Amino acid sequence: MSKRSRLNRRASPGALILLGLCLTRLPAAASPQAVLSFQKYADIAERIRISGLESETAFQMLRELTTKAGPRLTGSAAAARAVEMTRMMMKDMGFETWLEPIMVQHWVRGVEEARLVDTDPPGTSALKITALGRSVPTPGPGLTAPVIEVRSFEELQKLGLRVKDKIVFFNKRMNPAPMDTFSAYGEAAQFRSLGASEAARAGAAAVLVRSATLRTDDFPHTGMVQYDPQIPKIPAAAVATADADRLSDRLRNGAAVNVFLRLGCRELPPVPSANVVGQIRGTERPEEIILVGGHLDSWDLGTGAHDDGAGCVQAMEAVRLIKDLGLRPKRTIRIVLFMNEEFGSSGGRDYADAARRKTERHLAAMESDRGGFLPLGFGIGGSRETFDKLKAWEPLLQPSGILWVRPGGGGGDIGPLARTGTVLMGFVPDSQKYFDVHHSALDVLDSVHPRELELGAVIMAIMAYGLAQEGI
Ligand SMILES: [Zn+2]
Repeated sequence: MSKRSRLNRRASPGALILLGLCLTRLPAAASPQAVLSFQKYADIAERIRISGLESETAFQMLRELTTKAGPRLTGSAAAARAVEMTRMMMKDMGFETWLEPIMVQHWVRGVEEARLVDTDPPGTSALKITALGRSVPTPGPGLTAPVIEVRSFEELQKLGLRVKDKIVFFNKRMNPAPMDTFSAYGEAAQFRSLGASEAARAGAAAVLVRSATLRTDDFPHTGMVQYDPQIPKIPAAAVATADADRLSDRLRNGAAVNVFLRLGCRELPPVPSANVVGQIRGTERPEEIILVGGHLDSWDLGTGAHDDGAGCVQAMEAVRLIKDLGLRPKRTIRIVLFMNEEFGSSGGRDYADAARRKTERHLAAMESDRGGFLPLGFGIGGSRETFDKLKAWEPLLQPSGILWVRPGGGGGDIGPLARTGTVLMGFVPDSQKYFDVHHSALDVLDSVHPRELELGAVIMAIMAYGLAQEGI
């Protein structure tokens, strides 16, 4: 089948005309030229896809990042190594590179241990737990306290002072109903981020939080605690879902259960770090920037392969594909590997502040931070007009597996750029397996599929190049 007939099969005539309008700025009536222009981009998109799938370079980069730098907890020596390493990788690929210094938190994990303290029959049983990021340590040799289970903040409130000196156990299951698992994440994660202060308000001694994952297994999933500065800080840990179920069973019918908890984590003074930037300068409008990015920091239980090593290497690979195919974008395409997403996205905020100070013009920003899974859709933020215009690019993405283009787009790190009119967008990968690994020891290279990972880079490259040529 010829490329042309394949395209015609995929793209409706309406989409082609709309696309022609967008890509060539010709009147709709000039459809032969419009189709010709579309053909040019379709050919480039195909070259990008084939080149990416044949090389699988994104996976090679991810192997290097996860093995040589390892887990990149904000403020750690490994995160500092990752800054240097990714800068060198971009330099070796021929990009202009620099670091944008920022200050970041430096929280360190220590000993962590929890067990059921049985009184009848006597004995103990270990619980699989992990400290939540920024958690304070338990006092001295650890604490032992009765556990009280809740499934909502309302339940906690009703208990009032009955939680005093107890370990509050937030056991809310992540909702399995939504197809997009991210839409269930916020509800589950609120207990992780806000639970400690809510429980401390009524005098609790510590909190255990059911891990935010849809699977029942033995791997605790960490994440950040947001302490209310007005309330005393209490230790906070996530418990693996299988052990959360076991603990809940033990508590059934009001049984008294004591748990021993020991956390040695602590917060050290802030340290200098950096966002890592690389770019190829535009040939005609270098002052207009198309940003692609991910966040370089990760949690420390695995190696942050999906979250967000995948996004970082996809952004680098997207620009490598463009460059190595000899394409010369008219506008600047810039890679930003943001630091410190996991402890509050300060890298993204600092980057946007600096961009405002430098009066840089970011036309569009794409962030990959939903794992290196198979891209299924593409989201476009901004106005309806922008959406309608870019929706017409759908036929360019379909041969690389994109099934839909819908309104909506964003990301924790690129979000602050929206205030200055940057259009946020990005591909949406299959979310079914993401929370199996997210923030846990399972987030390692083996859980990433090279072709799925590469296709994300391909989609980013096609969109970034199209935007660099045509603007918005
Ligand atoms: Zn992330």
